[in-house]
Amino acid sequence: MKIGVCVKITPDTDTRIKIQGDGIDANGIKWVVSPYDALAVEEAIVTGEKHGAEVVSFTIGDESTQAVLRGNVLAPGVARSVVVSEAAALKTDSLGRARVLAAAIGREACDVVFCGKVGIDHDNAQVPAMVGELLGWPVISRVTTFSAEGGRFRATRNVDGGVVEVVEGPLPAIMTAERGLNTPRYAKLPQLTAAKKKPIDTPSLADLGLSADVIAPAVTMTAWDTPPPRPKGRILQGDVDTVVDELVRLLREEAKVL
Ligand SMILES: Cc1cc2nc3c(=O)[nH]c(=O)nc-3n(C[C@H](O)[C@H](O)[C@H](O)COP(=O)(O)OP(=O)(O)OC[C@H]3O[C@@H](n4cnc5c(N)ncnc54)[C@H](O)[C@@H]3O)c2cc1C
Repeated sequence: MKIGVCVKITPDTDTRIKIQGDGIDANGIKWVVSPYDALAVEEAIVTGEKHGAEVVSFTIGDESTQAVLRGNVLAPGVARSVVVSEAAALKTDSLGRARVLAAAIGREACDVVFCGKVGIDHDNAQVPAMVGELLGWPVISRVTTFSAEGGRFRATRNVDGGVVEVVEGPLPAIMTAERGLNTPRYAKLPQLTAAKKKPIDTPSLADLGLSADVIAPAVTMTAWDTPPPRPKGRILQGDVDTVVDELVRLLREEAKVL
């Protein structure tokens, strides 16, 4: 059995994003494993430990992603990483990225591939379903428990009203991780040291049987619009009666919420 996990490296959720040209200003950004992908990594490692299987991660990202992968993906237990860094792969849409990931996964003959339910930066929730379609595999989204036996999987998903849905099917398959699936582990110091020697393969698009034309975006991001700055708060002065009267007047006449 071989297990795959797709890992997107994103800005930390605390980061204040500044738009620069047609992208973001990378200065001062702390890069992390997208939080739902951290759940996917943990599930891949746990499943690998249970079945004595190798775990391989797949990332589309520039060279700087390698340091994050070593500390947060290879150190906790993934055996090796595949990173595609060619410019055309970095600047394409969800389908282009899915084509790259599907080609990389296809070379590895994985039995199951875990992904996050959504990348927390672009928030598309599209890539895993597209990868599944390209590979012809079932896709189970927002998985909260997972097990595999005898070439089949069993997973649960939370649906409306607290109802838990149980799904079963054949492997290979794609699972997308939902909150509650597990608690990601932290790597220990010896694992962090050992991760420095773990292999990171960096195939070109040609190595994957692709080209810039094949993965060219159909959808183009044309602009980024940031929210308008919040107006300054106002501090009301005076005794309690005056302040309350003024507050009620402002809520009624200016904010129009009363
Ligand atoms: C410079 C730049 C240019 C871009 N140009 C375009 C454009 O022209 N048109 C357009 O539509 N979009 C563009 N994008 C957005 C980009 O295509 C999105 O990142 C992509 O569509 C995936 O969407 P998402 O990140 O919301 O992933 P989702 O679909 O939400 O991701 C779900 C899961 O899929 C997996 N996954 C997703 N991305 C990766 C990855 N890179 N590596 C490994 N696993 C991954 C992860 O497991 C993730 O949790 C651009 C982005 C950048 C940085």
